[in-house]
Amino acid sequence: MDNEIKRIPCKNRDCDKTILEATDVKTGGYCYPCYNSIKAKEREEYIRKNKKDVNLYEGITDPVEMIKIIYKNKKYDPLINYISCLKTKEEVYVSLLPNDVERLKKYVMELFKNDNDEWEKILLDLVCINGANIDEILEALIAEFKIFESSLFYNASDRIAELLMEKLKSKDDRLSVNHILLALAMIGNDRVVEAFNEWKKNEPDFSKDLYMKAYEYALESGWKLDNKGKRKNLYYEKSYGIKKGFSEKNTPVKFLKTQGEKCEWCGRKLKSLFTIDLQNENMKFLDLDGEKINISTCDNCTCYGFIYTDIDTKGNATWSKHNSEPSYLNTHDNEEFQEGSDDKKVYIDLNEKAENYAANQFFEVNFTKIGGIPAWIQGAEFPKCPKCKEEMKFVGQVSMEDFEDYREGIYYGFVCNECKIAATGYQQT
Ligand SMILES: [Zn+2]
Ligand SMILES: [Zn+2]
Ligand SMILES: [Zn+2]
Repeated sequence: MDNEIKRIPCKNRDCDKTILEATDVKTGGYCYPCYNSIKAKEREEYIRKNKKDVNLYEGITDPVEMIKIIYKNKKYDPLINYISCLKTKEEVYVSLLPNDVERLKKYVMELFKNDNDEWEKILLDLVCINGANIDEILEALIAEFKIFESSLFYNASDRIAELLMEKLKSKDDRLSVNHILLALAMIGNDRVVEAFNEWKKNEPDFSKDLYMKAYEYALESGWKLDNKGKRKNLYYEKSYGIKKGFSEKNTPVKFLKTQGEKCEWCGRKLKSLFTIDLQNENMKFLDLDGEKINISTCDNCTCYGFIYTDIDTKGNATWSKHNSEPSYLNTHDNEEFQEGSDDKKVYIDLNEKAENYAANQFFEVNFTKIGGIPAWIQGAEFPKCPKCKEEMKFVGQVSMEDFEDYREGIYYGFVCNECKIAATGYQQT
Protein backbone atom coordinates (compact mmCIF):
# COMPACT_ATOMS: atom_id res chain seq x y z
CA MET A 1 0.00 0.00 0.00
CA ASP A 2 1.29 3.43 -0.98
CA ASN A 3 0.01 5.42 1.90
CA GLU A 4 1.34 3.04 4.48
CA ILE A 5 2.99 5.02 7.26
CA LYS A 6 6.64 4.26 7.41
CA ARG A 7 7.80 2.70 10.68
CA ILE A 8 11.34 2.00 11.71
CA PRO A 9 12.57 -0.42 14.36
CA CYS A 10 13.57 0.85 17.83
CA LYS A 11 17.31 1.30 18.24
CA ASN A 12 17.33 -0.98 21.25
CA ARG A 13 18.23 -4.41 19.86
CA ASP A 14 16.36 -6.17 22.62
CA CYS A 15 13.18 -4.31 21.75
CA ASP A 16 10.84 -5.43 18.96
CA LYS A 17 8.77 -2.23 18.77
CA THR A 18 8.70 0.01 15.71
CA ILE A 19 8.42 3.81 15.78
CA LEU A 20 7.26 6.66 13.57
CA GLU A 21 9.79 8.98 11.99
CA ALA A 22 8.48 11.82 14.14
CA THR A 23 9.29 9.80 17.22
CA ASP A 24 12.73 9.01 15.86
CA VAL A 25 13.48 12.75 15.69
CA LYS A 26 12.44 13.28 19.31
CA THR A 27 14.02 10.24 20.91
CA GLY A 28 17.06 9.62 18.77
CA GLY A 29 15.74 6.35 17.44
CA TYR A 30 14.14 4.77 20.51
CA CYS A 31 10.55 3.88 21.19
CA TYR A 32 9.01 5.83 24.07
CA PRO A 33 9.23 3.01 26.68
CA CYS A 34 12.95 2.52 25.88
CA TYR A 35 13.56 6.27 25.76
CA ASN A 36 11.90 6.77 29.14
CA SER A 37 13.84 3.99 30.75
CA ILE A 38 17.14 5.42 29.43
CA LYS A 39 16.23 8.85 30.81
CA ALA A 40 15.23 7.33 34.16
CA LYS A 41 18.58 5.54 34.37
CA GLU A 42 20.40 8.80 33.65
CA ARG A 43 18.44 10.56 36.38
CA GLU A 44 19.20 7.79 38.86
CA GLU A 45 22.87 7.97 37.98
CA TYR A 46 22.86 11.74 38.45
CA ILE A 47 21.20 11.42 41.84
CA ARG A 48 23.59 8.68 42.87
CA LYS A 49 26.61 10.85 42.02
CA ASN A 50 25.28 14.08 43.49
CA LYS A 51 23.33 12.96 46.55
CA LYS A 52 24.64 14.52 49.74
CA ASP A 53 24.26 13.50 53.36
CA VAL A 54 22.71 16.17 55.54
CA ASN A 55 22.93 15.71 59.27
CA LEU A 56 20.53 18.08 61.00
CA TYR A 57 21.55 16.64 64.36
CA GLU A 58 25.20 17.49 64.05
CA GLY A 59 26.48 19.07 67.27
CA ILE A 60 23.01 18.91 68.87
CA THR A 61 23.02 17.47 72.39
CA ASP A 62 19.91 19.12 73.79
CA PRO A 63 17.09 16.53 73.66
CA VAL A 64 14.45 19.23 73.18
CA GLU A 65 16.25 20.48 70.07
CA MET A 66 16.51 16.89 68.84
CA ILE A 67 12.78 16.42 69.23
CA LYS A 68 12.10 19.63 67.30
CA ILE A 69 14.17 18.28 64.42
CA ILE A 70 12.63 14.80 64.53
CA TYR A 71 9.16 16.17 63.77
CA LYS A 72 10.12 19.01 61.45
CA ASN A 73 8.82 18.46 58.00
CA LYS A 74 11.99 17.85 56.05
CA LYS A 75 11.64 19.07 52.53
CA TYR A 76 11.89 16.17 50.16
CA ASP A 77 14.84 16.52 47.85
CA PRO A 78 16.14 13.54 45.88
CA LEU A 79 19.65 14.95 46.21
CA ILE A 80 19.54 15.03 50.00
CA ASN A 81 19.95 12.05 52.27
CA TYR A 82 18.83 13.11 55.75
CA ILE A 83 20.87 11.29 58.37
CA SER A 84 18.53 10.04 61.05
CA CYS A 85 18.98 10.81 64.72
CA LEU A 86 21.51 8.57 66.46
CA LYS A 87 19.12 8.03 69.34
CA THR A 88 15.69 6.52 68.85
CA LYS A 89 12.70 8.72 69.53
CA GLU A 90 11.98 6.61 72.57
CA GLU A 91 15.48 7.13 73.96
CA VAL A 92 15.22 10.88 73.47
CA TYR A 93 11.86 11.14 75.25
CA VAL A 94 12.95 8.94 78.12
CA SER A 95 16.06 11.11 78.61
CA LEU A 96 14.05 14.32 79.12
CA LEU A 97 14.58 15.95 82.53
CA PRO A 98 11.70 17.84 84.22
CA ASN A 99 13.14 21.12 82.99
CA ASP A 100 13.33 19.74 79.41
CA VAL A 101 9.70 18.65 79.63
CA GLU A 102 8.69 22.20 80.59
CA ARG A 103 10.63 23.65 77.65
CA LEU A 104 9.11 21.14 75.27
CA LYS A 105 5.62 21.97 76.52
CA LYS A 106 6.27 25.67 75.84
CA TYR A 107 7.35 24.79 72.31
CA VAL A 108 4.22 22.68 71.81
CA MET A 109 2.03 25.58 72.94
CA GLU A 110 3.72 27.84 70.39
CA LEU A 111 3.04 25.30 67.65
CA PHE A 112 -0.56 25.00 68.81
CA LYS A 113 -1.08 28.76 68.75
CA ASN A 114 0.45 28.92 65.28
CA ASP A 115 -1.82 26.17 63.99
CA ASN A 116 1.12 23.91 63.26
CA ASP A 117 -0.08 20.29 63.38
CA GLU A 118 3.16 18.97 64.81
CA TRP A 119 1.87 19.79 68.30
CA GLU A 120 -0.34 16.73 68.46
CA LYS A 121 2.34 14.22 67.51
CA ILE A 122 4.81 15.63 70.01
CA LEU A 123 2.22 15.66 72.78
CA LEU A 124 1.15 12.11 72.07
CA ASP A 125 4.73 10.90 72.41
CA LEU A 126 5.38 13.10 75.44
CA VAL A 127 2.39 11.62 77.27
CA CYS A 128 2.75 8.05 76.09
CA ILE A 129 6.53 7.58 76.01
CA ASN A 130 7.66 9.98 78.71
CA GLY A 131 4.55 9.78 80.87
CA ALA A 132 4.56 13.55 81.41
CA ASN A 133 1.57 15.38 82.83
CA ILE A 134 0.31 18.05 80.43
CA ASP A 135 -2.65 19.45 82.38
CA GLU A 136 -2.06 23.08 81.43
CA ILE A 137 -1.97 22.22 77.73
CA LEU A 138 -5.09 20.08 78.05
CA GLU A 139 -6.85 23.10 79.54
CA ALA A 140 -6.04 25.06 76.40
CA LEU A 141 -7.15 22.15 74.19
CA ILE A 142 -10.45 21.83 76.04
CA ALA A 143 -11.05 25.58 75.75
CA GLU A 144 -10.68 25.34 71.97
CA PHE A 145 -12.35 21.95 71.82
CA LYS A 146 -9.38 20.21 70.21
CA ILE A 147 -9.88 17.00 72.13
CA PHE A 148 -10.08 14.45 69.34
CA GLU A 149 -7.13 12.40 70.54
CA SER A 150 -8.17 10.80 73.83
CA SER A 151 -4.71 9.29 74.46
CA LEU A 152 -3.52 12.79 75.37
CA PHE A 153 -5.64 12.53 78.54
CA TYR A 154 -3.81 9.47 79.83
CA ASN A 155 -2.13 11.20 82.80
CA ALA A 156 -4.60 14.02 83.32
CA SER A 157 -5.70 14.97 86.83
CA ASP A 158 -9.06 15.55 88.54
CA ARG A 159 -9.00 19.18 87.52
CA ILE A 160 -9.11 18.18 83.85
CA ALA A 161 -11.84 15.61 84.52
CA GLU A 162 -13.93 18.34 86.18
CA LEU A 163 -13.37 20.71 83.25
CA LEU A 164 -14.55 18.05 80.81
CA MET A 165 -17.62 17.30 82.89
CA GLU A 166 -18.42 21.02 82.96
CA LYS A 167 -18.36 20.93 79.16
CA LEU A 168 -20.85 18.08 79.17
CA LYS A 169 -23.38 20.37 80.78
CA SER A 170 -23.03 22.98 78.09
CA LYS A 171 -22.36 21.01 74.91
CA ASP A 172 -25.08 18.97 73.39
CA ASP A 173 -23.96 17.99 69.94
CA ARG A 174 -23.24 14.31 69.60
CA LEU A 175 -19.68 14.55 68.38
CA SER A 176 -18.52 16.67 71.28
CA VAL A 177 -20.16 14.46 73.89
CA ASN A 178 -18.54 11.45 72.25
CA HIS A 179 -15.07 12.99 72.47
CA ILE A 180 -15.55 14.20 76.03
CA LEU A 181 -16.59 10.73 77.16
CA LEU A 182 -13.62 9.15 75.38
CA ALA A 183 -11.29 11.59 77.14
CA LEU A 184 -12.92 10.90 80.52
CA ALA A 185 -12.62 7.14 79.99
CA MET A 186 -8.92 7.64 79.29
CA ILE A 187 -8.47 9.61 82.53
CA GLY A 188 -10.36 6.84 84.31
CA ASN A 189 -9.38 7.97 87.84
CA ASP A 190 -11.55 7.87 90.98
CA ARG A 191 -13.41 11.01 90.00
CA VAL A 192 -14.30 9.53 86.61
CA VAL A 193 -15.22 6.17 88.13
CA GLU A 194 -17.58 8.01 90.49
CA ALA A 195 -19.21 9.85 87.58
CA PHE A 196 -19.54 6.69 85.48
CA ASN A 197 -21.22 4.93 88.42
CA GLU A 198 -23.72 7.77 88.69
CA TRP A 199 -24.40 7.58 84.95
CA LYS A 200 -24.82 3.83 85.17
CA LYS A 201 -27.61 4.33 87.74
CA ASN A 202 -29.23 7.25 85.89
CA GLU A 203 -28.53 7.56 82.21
CA PRO A 204 -27.80 11.28 81.74
CA ASP A 205 -29.58 13.44 79.15
CA PHE A 206 -26.42 14.23 77.20
CA SER A 207 -25.84 10.61 76.19
CA LYS A 208 -29.40 9.73 75.15
CA ASP A 209 -28.56 10.01 71.44
CA LEU A 210 -25.27 8.12 71.57
CA TYR A 211 -25.01 4.59 70.29
CA MET A 212 -23.76 3.38 73.64
CA LYS A 213 -24.39 4.27 77.23
CA ALA A 214 -22.19 6.91 78.87
CA TYR A 215 -20.57 4.53 81.38
CA GLU A 216 -19.80 1.99 78.65
CA TYR A 217 -17.22 4.41 77.23
CA ALA A 218 -14.89 2.93 79.88
CA LEU A 219 -14.41 -0.02 77.49
CA GLU A 220 -12.85 2.31 74.92
CA SER A 221 -9.97 2.74 77.36
CA GLY A 222 -9.91 -0.91 78.31
CA TRP A 223 -11.78 -0.96 81.62
CA LYS A 224 -15.25 -1.44 83.02
CA LEU A 225 -17.14 -0.99 86.27
CA ASP A 226 -17.25 -4.26 88.17
CA ASN A 227 -20.35 -5.25 90.13
CA LYS A 228 -19.10 -3.29 93.14
CA GLY A 229 -18.70 -0.17 91.03
CA LYS A 230 -14.88 -0.36 91.04
CA ARG A 231 -12.65 0.08 88.00
CA LYS A 232 -11.67 -3.29 86.54
CA ASN A 233 -9.00 -3.29 83.85
CA LEU A 234 -9.49 -5.66 80.92
CA TYR A 235 -5.77 -5.57 80.18
CA TYR A 236 -2.42 -6.12 81.88
CA GLU A 237 -0.66 -3.10 83.29
CA LYS A 238 2.63 -3.75 81.61
CA SER A 239 3.65 -4.91 78.20
CA TYR A 240 6.43 -6.22 75.98
CA GLY A 241 6.92 -5.18 72.39
CA ILE A 242 8.98 -6.83 69.68
CA LYS A 243 12.36 -6.40 68.09
CA LYS A 244 13.32 -7.10 64.50
CA GLY A 245 15.79 -9.84 63.75
CA PHE A 246 16.64 -13.20 65.21
CA SER A 247 16.61 -13.69 68.94
CA GLU A 248 19.75 -15.05 70.53
CA LYS A 249 18.15 -17.20 73.17
CA ASN A 250 14.99 -19.21 73.51
CA THR A 251 12.22 -16.69 73.58
CA PRO A 252 9.14 -17.05 75.77
CA VAL A 253 6.74 -16.06 73.00
CA LYS A 254 6.28 -17.77 69.65
CA PHE A 255 4.30 -15.92 67.02
CA LEU A 256 2.16 -17.22 64.14
CA LYS A 257 2.89 -20.91 64.23
CA THR A 258 0.62 -23.12 62.13
CA GLN A 259 -1.42 -25.57 64.19
CA GLY A 260 -2.61 -29.11 63.48
CA GLU A 261 -6.23 -28.22 64.17
CA LYS A 262 -8.40 -26.88 61.35
CA CYS A 263 -10.93 -24.06 61.12
CA GLU A 264 -14.39 -25.60 61.04
CA TRP A 265 -15.67 -22.89 58.73
CA CYS A 266 -13.07 -22.67 55.95
CA GLY A 267 -10.87 -25.70 56.53
CA ARG A 268 -7.62 -23.74 56.77
CA LYS A 269 -5.22 -24.77 59.50
CA LEU A 270 -5.45 -22.65 62.63
CA LYS A 271 -2.62 -20.25 63.42
CA SER A 272 -1.38 -19.53 66.89
CA LEU A 273 -1.25 -15.73 67.20
CA PHE A 274 1.11 -16.36 70.06
CA THR A 275 2.07 -19.18 72.38
CA ILE A 276 3.49 -17.90 75.63
CA ASP A 277 5.73 -19.74 78.08
CA LEU A 278 3.99 -18.86 81.34
CA GLN A 279 6.87 -20.16 83.46
CA ASN A 280 9.25 -17.57 82.04
CA GLU A 281 10.04 -14.89 84.64
CA ASN A 282 9.10 -12.05 82.29
CA MET A 283 5.74 -13.59 81.47
CA LYS A 284 4.64 -14.24 85.06
CA PHE A 285 2.78 -10.91 85.08
CA LEU A 286 0.12 -12.60 82.97
CA ASP A 287 -0.87 -14.57 86.07
CA LEU A 288 -2.40 -17.39 84.04
CA ASP A 289 -2.42 -21.02 85.17
CA GLY A 290 -0.21 -23.66 83.68
CA GLU A 291 2.88 -23.99 81.53
CA LYS A 292 1.83 -22.38 78.30
CA ILE A 293 -1.04 -20.46 76.78
CA ASN A 294 -1.78 -20.68 73.10
CA ILE A 295 -4.17 -18.20 71.53
CA SER A 296 -5.07 -19.54 68.13
CA THR A 297 -7.30 -18.35 65.35
CA CYS A 298 -8.27 -18.78 61.74
CA ASP A 299 -6.56 -15.70 60.30
CA ASN A 300 -9.15 -15.63 57.55
CA CYS A 301 -12.40 -16.20 59.41
CA THR A 302 -11.73 -14.07 62.49
CA CYS A 303 -11.94 -11.04 60.16
CA TYR A 304 -15.71 -11.69 60.22
CA GLY A 305 -16.13 -12.06 63.96
CA PHE A 306 -14.65 -13.43 67.16
CA ILE A 307 -13.28 -16.96 67.08
CA TYR A 308 -13.24 -18.88 70.33
CA THR A 309 -10.97 -21.76 71.28
CA ASP A 310 -10.90 -24.01 74.31
CA ILE A 311 -7.49 -23.84 75.88
CA ASP A 312 -5.60 -25.96 78.38
CA THR A 313 -2.61 -25.25 80.62
CA LYS A 314 -0.12 -26.97 78.30
CA GLY A 315 -0.40 -24.75 75.25
CA ASN A 316 -3.14 -26.56 73.35
CA ALA A 317 -6.03 -24.80 71.70
CA THR A 318 -9.03 -26.44 70.05
CA TRP A 319 -11.98 -25.06 68.10
CA SER A 320 -14.75 -24.18 70.54
CA LYS A 321 -18.32 -25.41 70.26
CA HIS A 322 -19.32 -21.85 71.16
CA ASN A 323 -18.31 -20.56 67.72
CA SER A 324 -21.28 -19.63 65.58
CA GLU A 325 -20.63 -19.15 61.91
CA PRO A 326 -21.23 -15.57 60.73
CA SER A 327 -23.89 -15.10 58.06
CA TYR A 328 -21.27 -13.71 55.67
CA LEU A 329 -17.94 -15.44 55.33
CA ASN A 330 -15.52 -15.12 52.45
CA THR A 331 -13.42 -18.24 52.49
CA HIS A 332 -11.81 -17.91 49.08
CA ASP A 333 -9.82 -14.85 48.42
CA ASN A 334 -7.67 -14.24 51.38
CA GLU A 335 -4.22 -15.61 50.82
CA GLU A 336 -2.88 -17.92 53.41
CA PHE A 337 -0.36 -16.42 55.76
CA GLN A 338 3.22 -17.18 54.80
CA GLU A 339 6.06 -17.30 57.28
CA GLY A 340 7.87 -13.99 56.97
CA SER A 341 11.07 -13.70 55.01
CA ASP A 342 14.30 -13.32 56.99
CA ASP A 343 14.14 -9.53 57.10
CA LYS A 344 10.70 -9.87 58.63
CA LYS A 345 11.76 -12.01 61.56
CA VAL A 346 10.78 -10.62 64.92
CA TYR A 347 11.09 -11.68 68.52
CA ILE A 348 9.76 -10.49 71.84
CA ASP A 349 11.74 -7.64 73.36
CA LEU A 350 12.10 -8.35 77.07
CA ASN A 351 12.57 -4.70 78.03
CA GLU A 352 9.43 -3.95 79.98
CA LYS A 353 7.13 -1.31 78.52
CA ALA A 354 4.28 0.69 80.02
CA GLU A 355 0.66 -0.35 79.54
CA ASN A 356 0.04 2.36 76.97
CA TYR A 357 3.00 1.36 74.79
CA ALA A 358 1.79 0.76 71.20
CA ALA A 359 -1.75 1.40 72.41
CA ASN A 360 -2.64 4.09 69.90
CA GLN A 361 -2.79 3.40 66.18
CA PHE A 362 -1.12 6.74 65.41
CA PHE A 363 2.15 5.86 67.06
CA GLU A 364 5.11 5.11 64.85
CA VAL A 365 5.97 1.75 66.41
CA ASN A 366 5.64 -1.96 65.75
CA PHE A 367 2.26 -2.83 67.17
CA THR A 368 2.80 -6.49 67.95
CA LYS A 369 2.97 -6.86 71.72
CA ILE A 370 2.05 -8.95 74.73
CA GLY A 371 0.13 -7.24 77.54
CA GLY A 372 -0.84 -3.58 77.83
CA ILE A 373 -3.79 -1.77 76.29
CA PRO A 374 -4.96 -2.79 72.80
CA ALA A 375 -4.41 -0.44 69.85
CA TRP A 376 -7.88 -0.38 68.36
CA ILE A 377 -8.21 0.69 64.75
CA GLN A 378 -12.01 0.78 64.68
CA GLY A 379 -12.89 1.34 68.34
CA ALA A 380 -12.93 -1.04 71.29
CA GLU A 381 -14.35 -4.54 70.79
CA PHE A 382 -13.87 -6.82 73.77
CA PRO A 383 -15.43 -10.24 73.24
CA LYS A 384 -17.60 -11.66 75.99
CA CYS A 385 -16.75 -15.09 77.32
CA PRO A 386 -19.41 -17.44 75.95
CA LYS A 387 -19.50 -19.33 79.28
CA CYS A 388 -19.49 -16.69 82.03
CA LYS A 389 -20.62 -13.78 79.80
CA GLU A 390 -17.97 -11.44 81.18
CA GLU A 391 -15.71 -9.33 78.95
CA MET A 392 -12.52 -11.24 78.25
CA LYS A 393 -9.07 -9.93 79.13
CA PHE A 394 -6.74 -8.66 76.40
CA VAL A 395 -3.52 -10.70 76.26
CA GLY A 396 -1.75 -9.33 73.22
CA GLN A 397 -1.92 -8.27 69.59
CA VAL A 398 -0.22 -9.21 66.35
CA SER A 399 0.18 -6.56 63.67
CA MET A 400 0.48 -8.18 60.24
CA GLU A 401 2.79 -5.42 59.00
CA ASP A 402 5.43 -6.70 61.40
CA PHE A 403 5.41 -10.11 59.73
CA GLU A 404 4.56 -9.69 56.09
CA ASP A 405 4.78 -7.05 53.40
CA TYR A 406 1.45 -6.18 51.82
CA ARG A 407 -0.56 -7.35 54.79
CA GLU A 408 -2.20 -5.03 57.24
CA GLY A 409 -4.49 -5.05 60.22
CA ILE A 410 -4.16 -6.18 63.80
CA TYR A 411 -5.22 -9.48 65.35
CA TYR A 412 -6.22 -9.27 69.00
CA GLY A 413 -6.04 -12.14 71.51
CA PHE A 414 -8.16 -12.44 74.67
CA VAL A 415 -8.65 -14.95 77.43
CA CYS A 416 -11.06 -15.94 80.19
CA ASN A 417 -8.69 -17.70 82.56
CA GLU A 418 -11.52 -19.01 84.75
CA CYS A 419 -13.42 -20.70 81.89
CA LYS A 420 -10.29 -21.67 79.89
CA ILE A 421 -11.56 -20.02 76.74
CA ALA A 422 -9.55 -17.80 74.42
CA ALA A 423 -10.86 -15.49 71.71
CA THR A 424 -9.47 -13.57 68.75
CA GLY A 425 -10.67 -10.61 66.77
CA TYR A 426 -9.32 -8.50 63.91
CA GLN A 427 -9.49 -4.89 62.80
CA GLN A 428 -8.09 -2.95 59.89
CA THR A 429 -8.39 0.55 58.49
ZN1 LIG B 1 12.15 0.10 22.30
ZN1 LIG C 1 -11.49 -20.24 58.69
ZN1 LIG D 1 -15.57 -17.04 81.26
